[in-house]
Amino acid sequence: MHWFLSSGSPRWSLGTLIAVLLTVPTALQAEQAFDYQMPAIDPETASSVEEKPGWSTERFAVAAANPLATDAGYQVLKAGGTAIDAAVAVQMVLTLVEPQSSGIGGGAFLMHYDGEEVVAYGGRETAPGSVDETLFLDEEGEPLDFMTAVASGLSVGVPGTLRMLERAHDEHGQLPWAELFTPAIRLAEEGFAVSPRLHASLAEEERLRDDPLAGVFYYTEDGEALPVGHELQNPALGAILRDIAEQGSSALHTGAIAEDLVFRVQNHPERPGALTLEDLASYAAQVRDPLCTEWRSYRVCGFPPPSSGHLTIMQMLGMLEQLPVLDSPLANDLPSAEWLHRFLEAARLAFADRNKYIADPEYVEAPGGDWATMLAPGYLELRAERIGEESLGSGSAEPGNPGALDTAWGIQPTQPEAGTSHISIIDEHGNALAMTTTIEQGFGARIMADGGTGMPGGYLLNNELTDFSFTPEDEAGNPIANRVEAGKRPRSSMSPTLVFDRDSGDLVASLGSPGGAAIIHYTAKTLVAMLDWGLDAQAALELPHAVTLGGPVFLETGGFPAATREALSARGHEVSERELVSGLQALQVTEEGLYGGADPRREGVVRGE
Ligand code: GLU
Repeated sequence: MHWFLSSGSPRWSLGTLIAVLLTVPTALQAEQAFDYQMPAIDPETASSVEEKPGWSTERFAVAAANPLATDAGYQVLKAGGTAIDAAVAVQMVLTLVEPQSSGIGGGAFLMHYDGEEVVAYGGRETAPGSVDETLFLDEEGEPLDFMTAVASGLSVGVPGTLRMLERAHDEHGQLPWAELFTPAIRLAEEGFAVSPRLHASLAEEERLRDDPLAGVFYYTEDGEALPVGHELQNPALGAILRDIAEQGSSALHTGAIAEDLVFRVQNHPERPGALTLEDLASYAAQVRDPLCTEWRSYRVCGFPPPSSGHLTIMQMLGMLEQLPVLDSPLANDLPSAEWLHRFLEAARLAFADRNKYIADPEYVEAPGGDWATMLAPGYLELRAERIGEESLGSGSAEPGNPGALDTAWGIQPTQPEAGTSHISIIDEHGNALAMTTTIEQGFGARIMADGGTGMPGGYLLNNELTDFSFTPEDEAGNPIANRVEAGKRPRSSMSPTLVFDRDSGDLVASLGSPGGAAIIHYTAKTLVAMLDWGLDAQAALELPHAVTLGGPVFLETGGFPAATREALSARGHEVSERELVSGLQALQVTEEGLYGGADPRREGVVRGE
């Protein structure tokens, strides 16, 4: 069923042979704890949307968006590595095999649990030190066209994923940093088969072809996207990863690789950006207290601002909890129209607050001086009173006032977001993590960097700065909390989540998803389905999606019966269908061990023992 097999012989080419010979000295080191085995790939059985069985394991498990990445994490865990060890290996392989979604050129949020304490590690990109709120405005002061801004040097933030992983690895790693790069280096140098999803993303993509490096690396001379199963080597990335393996994150943030990154941003042919060597060198990962919220018999922990994920999810779940209990939230095993109506109304109200209040806390004060005001039961009770039989309607949900405010923030208009990857890992040492990682849009800023190696390939730079509001103020002249400011982190929707039992404190689940602002709906509904409706992780994440950011409602194509759509329309929702391509991964602790689910809408799989 899967296009990945865990053992077998790789296909040998001259390049493969040379690369293997070059890696022999490492492989022979006597003290090496982690001996990576190249997996074989069978692209013939590939399919980008497959049935996923759900996976039961006993001691450890890893869930990631690509089978090669999952396998790298699995091999690290099997060799006795910790969850963070595995996450480093997974992320490096994702940089190579799922370059459209995440990588060393991007940012991430990591929720880590060491058996006692939950810590939130922040690797969100920052705006360069010299930009201001006019970054995405044209000469007339009008916002730039969104995709024009995305595919440019303007949108590139200082990457943070590597520094964040390094910090977390320093604190919770067990295997040596350098060894964790072996899977990605070998796959980069020996080649990996282009997956169906990578092929499809390349085929749909227009702007990446214009990049001088990516245009020749990912496309044939005739301009065709590399076919499924094409064995792709990425020697530039292999060389970059060798440097990072040896020198740590400094290899990306200073020196030749940093100079190349800055050069590419500053020399973008149409819209150069302002990112400097100083911006790169001064980047530091953050260590934050997580936001943990009591809900039902659970304690749900997520990332604080600049992510809007946890606050918005928990506002939605908190409002739903205030409403009279439904006889059955499910109809024929699908969320009923009545439950969907409530869920969507709660989303309208929560997104109204999100769009007004949530931004980088180093620049913006929380309402009432504390983000907890947004989740106070009394406040959510008031908000839930606005949920009636009829929908508030498109664009009509107003933000509330959770605390006394000094500044009357303007409301940020909705902007598109897409891309990203989620990793969930539980190891056998009592650690668990949930990490959501992104370069923002599919293929980020459409700028590839080769680290100055001059070799084919490289890695992609993020466009995370387009997660800021393009307009710095609303029509009434009120500043928008999430406007661009120097050194600031853009607001995110990423929602890596760890769930604990409220009484025992035991770990219950790790989950998250890509999907732009809809990450919030995907994660919220999966939490309800697993924890409230008692579905297993696989069944929970497979339920069809329903999304509104405050305006129209989107139901997943073919997901719900016509009667559900009609019932929602009758309550005043403006309903249409569209593909809603979540990439949920979820691991659950069960009485027998662990159980994992991976989203059939993408290529993710779970492995463990
Ligand atoms: N850049 C988005 C964020 O941080 C995520 C994009 C996506 O998941 O599609 O919220």
